[in-house]
Amino acid sequence: MGFKQKQHDNNGFEIANQAGAARTGTLQVGDTELKTPNLFPVVNFYAGGTSSSLYGGGIHRTMKEFMNGDEVINGGDYSEYFDGVMTSVASLTDYGITKERYEEYIDTPIKERDLFDFDGVLFIDSGGFKFLGDKTLDGSDFEVDVDQRTIIEIQRKLGADLVLNLDRPIEPDDDYETRIQKARMTAQNVDQFLELTDRQKQTRYLTLHGYNYSMLNTFLTEIEKVIGKNRVHREFDGVALGSLVPLKDNKGKLITAVSDCREVLDDWGFDDLPLHVLGISSSAIPLLAAVGADTFDSSSYLHAAINGKYHTSLYNTEPLDDVDFSNCDCPVCSDDKLVNWMEGDAEYQKDKLGAVSMHNLIIQKEEISRVREAISKSGTDGLIEYFEQSLSRHKSMQQHAHRVVNDSLGGYF
Ligand SMILES: [Zn+2]
Repeated sequence: MGFKQKQHDNNGFEIANQAGAARTGTLQVGDTELKTPNLFPVVNFYAGGTSSSLYGGGIHRTMKEFMNGDEVINGGDYSEYFDGVMTSVASLTDYGITKERYEEYIDTPIKERDLFDFDGVLFIDSGGFKFLGDKTLDGSDFEVDVDQRTIIEIQRKLGADLVLNLDRPIEPDDDYETRIQKARMTAQNVDQFLELTDRQKQTRYLTLHGYNYSMLNTFLTEIEKVIGKNRVHREFDGVALGSLVPLKDNKGKLITAVSDCREVLDDWGFDDLPLHVLGISSSAIPLLAAVGADTFDSSSYLHAAINGKYHTSLYNTEPLDDVDFSNCDCPVCSDDKLVNWMEGDAEYQKDKLGAVSMHNLIIQKEEISRVREAISKSGTDGLIEYFEQSLSRHKSMQQHAHRVVNDSLGGYF
């Protein structure tokens, strides 16, 4: 069991409204304010290309054209959907990048490049999830040993606003000893991470891993043993909960992990720290926001498009060939050129699927803004009504919506 200590001296997150465990707030990262709950779309700034192709690479290039409002995509302004984005150090290790290309790429911070018109919050993940399934984060192509020091260097050079330590995610079948060992390895990295980063320049999140109260409490206790009580309580601006991706299709387990994480944080006196959930999005977002998650990141908008799926809501997709684009009034579906692309009249597949990705992202961002509004209404009625009108209408989601309403929002009236 943790202990209560003086409230964390964190001015970067202000909670505005609460409904049960759900809350809305403002996350201040550097000069930028972000409304919460919010979703950071995963953007691959380096997708195996050169600067002349916006470090292009198929669909990733089209997403960057949307970020920039390029003429290629008819010059619309999509910046509101990129108020915060997540990218990962691991995106550099996926492309067989040479040392020269690597050095050229990390030479200039992303937001200072002429290439990108982006001024939202840049969240750069450590890439620790690459250790899942006995894989490693391998920088041998560009002749770099990837450790906590290198990761910080890359995060810093790319101009990250929000950073987290290099972590060792746990897996569902890890035994107790393995989980403890991973917590200790993560703690050593956290110790180094605090030495190497400057909170004045970057917002720092601590990674936690576990699926329930006991696991998360143990993980945090191991971190505290290495870095000390004082630092665990004073040095972080937020917490990122990881290891959930293998559970992504089990909404019941996700709800338990996030609500237990919120409980552990509250018991340790971290009530006012924002909680980020790594790698989870789509239909789980409203459920997890209701039990206390503040931000999310995901590339599901992109993967849905790559699989030929067009979001008709946060909870439903339709095969691309069946879509009537006139049913959506988003900026993509309101643009004749982009609709033609989505209908297949595009020179490149990346344009067709890139436009679908952008539409999918807009659907996700708009839904999360509805969740924000529902939480903002006084009491829990707004959020309960939201669940009644959204998830409760889907058979597979009903039981989870009811659980969240009963456990966290005081039940039905
Ligand atoms: Zn649309």
